[in-house]
Amino acid sequence: MEYFLTETQKEIRDLAYRIAVEKVKPVRAEYDEKGIYPWDIARHLADADLFGSYIPENYGGLGEGLFSGILVTEQLARICSGIALVFEGTLLGTYPIILFGNEDQKRKYLPRIAKGEIVSSFGMTESGAGSDAAGISSSAIKDGDYYILNGTKQWITNGGEAEINTVVFLTDKERGIRSATAFLVEKGTPGFSAGKKENKLGIRASATRELVFEDCRVHQDCILGKPGQGLRVAMQTFDMTRPVVAAQAVGLAQGAMDEALAYSQQRMQFGQKISSFQSIQLMLADMAMQIEACRQLLYHTCRLIDRGYTDVTKLSSMAKLLSSDMAMKVTVDAIQIFGGYGYMKDYPVEKMMRDAKIIQIYEGTNQIQRLVIANELTKEYNKNKNREIAL
Ligand SMILES: Cc1cc2nc3c(=O)[nH]c(=O)nc-3n(C[C@H](O)[C@H](O)[C@H](O)COP(=O)(O)OP(=O)(O)OC[C@H]3O[C@@H](n4cnc5c(N)ncnc54)[C@H](O)[C@@H]3O)c2cc1C
Repeated sequence: MEYFLTETQKEIRDLAYRIAVEKVKPVRAEYDEKGIYPWDIARHLADADLFGSYIPENYGGLGEGLFSGILVTEQLARICSGIALVFEGTLLGTYPIILFGNEDQKRKYLPRIAKGEIVSSFGMTESGAGSDAAGISSSAIKDGDYYILNGTKQWITNGGEAEINTVVFLTDKERGIRSATAFLVEKGTPGFSAGKKENKLGIRASATRELVFEDCRVHQDCILGKPGQGLRVAMQTFDMTRPVVAAQAVGLAQGAMDEALAYSQQRMQFGQKISSFQSIQLMLADMAMQIEACRQLLYHTCRLIDRGYTDVTKLSSMAKLLSSDMAMKVTVDAIQIFGGYGYMKDYPVEKMMRDAKIIQIYEGTNQIQRLVIANELTKEYNKNKNREIAL
């Protein structure tokens, strides 16, 4: 399929896929089973300069934009969606710095992330504030040039592994979310610790932990953007990273279809390959069509973003929503094509189905994506209602 990728984009895609096949595939079942964080895979990605693919050139990256980030994520997720998160979770933790960091913050962290020396995380969610991000209660109280952080962030991807963490706190409980402020907190800062690794249904190679802040004192230079901009930091970051979550879904679904297609050509029943049965052919055709539709929406959205188009909230949410629902369906259907063997851990589609579920939940559940899309439609309607409809 021709996607009109540049030569560099093709190289990045092919490099990521080669690492996925040669390094990730042999270990994915074991890392899933034992919940091993893939530091060794991170080294291979770093050696190939892939962590820097989307980071601007003047901060040590390749400057290939968000599109390169989705290409790497898609190819890694095609083989293992859990291991892909060492890259994808770092992209989520890094975009706030790219979007809102001052020169000092960018110079301090981006080159190290680009080299793959460190990974990063982004922490918004709390036990009482998931979909309702505005309901966070963790506090940052000003004390001279410092802030004292207290509270717990829940289920943070790369939590405990990340050297640098963007976390959002309220500086004034009375003003609530209008006082939300994003802070950059380094691992090892006194008063900051990570909880135990969560035992999850899927993406088990990814580390998900609490970030705990107990009288953690950070200098005001750690503020990302301006005080009170915390929600904006989060929402603008999600505009960039929801397409990356969509890329995880597209890659995962492609991987499941690759497996189902190959299996259907080998498995014999009633004296013939199961690929000769029309019901199997129809399932494969539906998979291919849905994956392709999602990929086209994803690539289109990222091309707009990389060309500086900023009004992308609706498209980013659509890409995340459509692709994650698609990946769930495709992975369930892949198991169906495998029959009973698909239900066994001996084949990768069982893990792929477990890995798919989270994509419908994190970075905003798919119910919340629908609300976001509807909200954008209303805004568009109100903006255009006095204008004649242009055909
Ligand atoms: C493995 C994993 C990794 C994660 N990584 C991160 C991370 O790196 N950083 C981070 O900040 N967070 C992270 N999260 C948190 C994740 O973003 C939240 O779980 C998600 O936003 C949903 O919040 P919740 O789980 O509290 O569900 P709830 O908000 O309690 O929702 C429960 C149900 O109610 C529905 N619902 C809620 N409100 C509405 C509404 N207004 N209208 C309709 N339906 C509604 C939801 O769609 C859902 O079905 C992670 C979570 C997991 C499980």
